[in-house]
Amino acid sequence: MQTVDKKNYIEKTEKNLVHTYNRFDVVFDKGDGVYLYDSEGKKYLDFAAGIAVMALGYNNKEYNNALKNQIDKLLHTSNLYYNTTICEASEKLLEASQMDRVFLTNSGTEAIEGAIKAARKYAYKKQKKGCYEIIAMEHSFHGRSLGALSVTGNKNYREPFEPLIPGVKFAKYNNIESVKELVSQKTCAIIMETVQGEGGIYPAEESFLKEVKEICKENDILLILDEIQCGMGRTGDMFAWQGYGIKPDIMTCAKAIGCGVPVGAFFMTEEVAKNSLEPGDHGTTYGGNPFVSAAICEVLRQFEKKNLLEHVKDVSEYLEDQLDTLVCEYDFLVERRGKGLMQGVETTLKVGEVSKKALENGLIVITAGKNVLRFVPPLIITEENVDEMICKLKETLDTFA
Ligand SMILES: *Cc1c(COP(=O)(O)O)cnc(C)c1O
Repeated sequence: MQTVDKKNYIEKTEKNLVHTYNRFDVVFDKGDGVYLYDSEGKKYLDFAAGIAVMALGYNNKEYNNALKNQIDKLLHTSNLYYNTTICEASEKLLEASQMDRVFLTNSGTEAIEGAIKAARKYAYKKQKKGCYEIIAMEHSFHGRSLGALSVTGNKNYREPFEPLIPGVKFAKYNNIESVKELVSQKTCAIIMETVQGEGGIYPAEESFLKEVKEICKENDILLILDEIQCGMGRTGDMFAWQGYGIKPDIMTCAKAIGCGVPVGAFFMTEEVAKNSLEPGDHGTTYGGNPFVSAAICEVLRQFEKKNLLEHVKDVSEYLEDQLDTLVCEYDFLVERRGKGLMQGVETTLKVGEVSKKALENGLIVITAGKNVLRFVPPLIITEENVDEMICKLKETLDTFA
């Protein structure tokens, strides 16, 4: 096989792209299962899955064929017409989510935009004058567009782009008093991740989520749960809130919903749907086109066929045990947090250095927050893959000892 010129690719790309990322020094060329290969043919075990996107792994033949078939049939028609594929995709999504209505977007951030608009419109339709405030959480991440940025709990991300949308207040995650303090007559929604991802892998405590839901119910405030990272089976439930015994009014989803094609979604209950967005209020040219809808259908078909939720529950138990052992072994590992195949290990080391060194050792792990190693592998990983990961991680950590 002819290897491509790595240095040339990196230099050209750096010259061409707007410099919004400090990329790792690797040029990926192909993937297979839970492995990626770089331009020089070196193999990497992938515990990042393209940031929790590639739930079914790489080069999944049935998935590839489903997309190839759809390409030959129909790629795009716009949302001015019906098509057969979005019909099937939406039916499957509602069944999996227990929600009543869905709007398909092209990304996570757009799903958040739609969710915010739906909540605003709900308050507007209910004649709640000036009811536009949103309570979001510190250390949250909801995306980079202006609306999504407005509810993202990282000041550094927000500041250069202010003023953002008005009326957003930040409460402390898993601290119900801090939420209560911010609730007012003007609150239209509370938005949070069921498990915080970018902020450092913090699962919501059950009592917290239940009390937030209560507050919402009592005050006719909408609960928006962002399941963009923690949804689609990652925690062992199809959507993480399903393991908490509560239900959101609006939910956002993206990342693994298309397993590699750009698609997201926001969902709502019928109660919200009949009191919010109407024709003319919202739209998208691409959103939910036949191509991405075919991907969704195939993804959900494989979840069922492979019994992936059960698999995640089994294999994540093993992963948790192995990570716990590791935390005991190394002084500079502080604790493990997470749910299912969304795990974080807090460290006192420079976490970026660890992830860089791991990459050199053929292991892809990413970071979260300031000091957390994040593990969000494809959901199809096996216990052998976990063993291989732990082995490579130890090799990496030993260089810091
Ligand atoms: C990734 C992510 C987003 C943004 O999704 P994009 O597809 O990058 O726009 C929003 N919320 C959460 C929780 C995420 O993890």
